[in-house]
Amino acid sequence: MKTVTILGSTGSVGRQALECVSRHPEAFKVVGLSAYKNEELLRAQLEKFSPAHYYFPSGAVEVQGSLFDILEDKSFTKCVGSLEELASKPADIVISAVSGIAGLWAAVAVLKRGGTLAIANKETIVAAGRHLKDLERKYGGKIIPLDTEHSAIMQCLKGESKKQVKKLVLTASGGALRDVPVDKLSKITPEEALNHPVWSMGKKITIDSATLFNKGLEVIEAMRLFEVGASDVEVLMHRESVVHSLVEFSDGAQKALLSVPDMKLSIENALYYPERGVNSVEALRLDKIGVLNFSAPDFERYPCLELAYEAANAGEGAVIALSAADEVLVEKYLEKKIKLTDIPLLLKKTLSKFKGIKEVELENILSIDEKARQYTYSMVGTK
Ligand code: MG
Repeated sequence: MKTVTILGSTGSVGRQALECVSRHPEAFKVVGLSAYKNEELLRAQLEKFSPAHYYFPSGAVEVQGSLFDILEDKSFTKCVGSLEELASKPADIVISAVSGIAGLWAAVAVLKRGGTLAIANKETIVAAGRHLKDLERKYGGKIIPLDTEHSAIMQCLKGESKKQVKKLVLTASGGALRDVPVDKLSKITPEEALNHPVWSMGKKITIDSATLFNKGLEVIEAMRLFEVGASDVEVLMHRESVVHSLVEFSDGAQKALLSVPDMKLSIENALYYPERGVNSVEALRLDKIGVLNFSAPDFERYPCLELAYEAANAGEGAVIALSAADEVLVEKYLEKKIKLTDIPLLLKKTLSKFKGIKEVELENILSIDEKARQYTYSMVGTK
């Protein structure tokens, strides 16, 4: 049996991870949970899974023990002082499903104890990926991507030699606004942008999918996870979200991973690693789907994607700043303080300001992140 800690258990990925764990009680036991705001759901999860530890920023949650716990007089679940502390507690696998750079030190803590980190927290990979890979090597842990595209690439790379990889190709559905005329994008409300055609996800990532900034982050995520350059990662528009990504090899052959669009495949792939799960998702029926469409990305429609490439080429400072600025801008867009089309304009300003910093040490990431946020708030109004 594997023990599992889930950071961000009340979010979309966290809830799906708990569903996967619940389906296989013989294989997995939850030993740690954390939530950011949703106290009610966290309480229900604590009562159901009785983990040894949990973390909630506003402090301990009142939990009813099971009859067994009460009879045995066990204080069965303990609130710890930080996400990082929860991540350092023993667990065979830690799933990081938190959103934003807030997941940074927890990811570092898992790798520093040589643990397995299944990570969906792309802002952390983007900002600190080089350091995470160094820690993985140094302490003998393992990073397993949960993002569908990167999980697909990892699966395509299995048994292959890195020397013979020519390029990585990330597929993109195009998000909720893929069919909206470009000149109408400035009028799009958050409600419209949140209506993703294929994936049901958290708010930040859904808006990022509408602007394709999410795919830009994923390009950088792929660069960091697979240790390749920006020119080695391409984006391919694919509206059906059946092909989750591809790898092209030196001989011109391409391998792709296909499945019905369901995150449980990458979650169970990580949980069972190095094995595969059983019936993680329903079987793909290509005969029913019939046609799959592919096209090149349109940078005029999706300027955020181009900005992400620019940042990736400029260096780590630009990448950290761009990601931080986007967190602020998405929040302001959801509050209806800025237009959707303001996001790339303001990202561009942040990018030119933070362009010069090539490499950023782990302990300086949060200060650059904070400076970029301050700069962005100075353009759009304070919190
Ligand atoms: Mg993805």
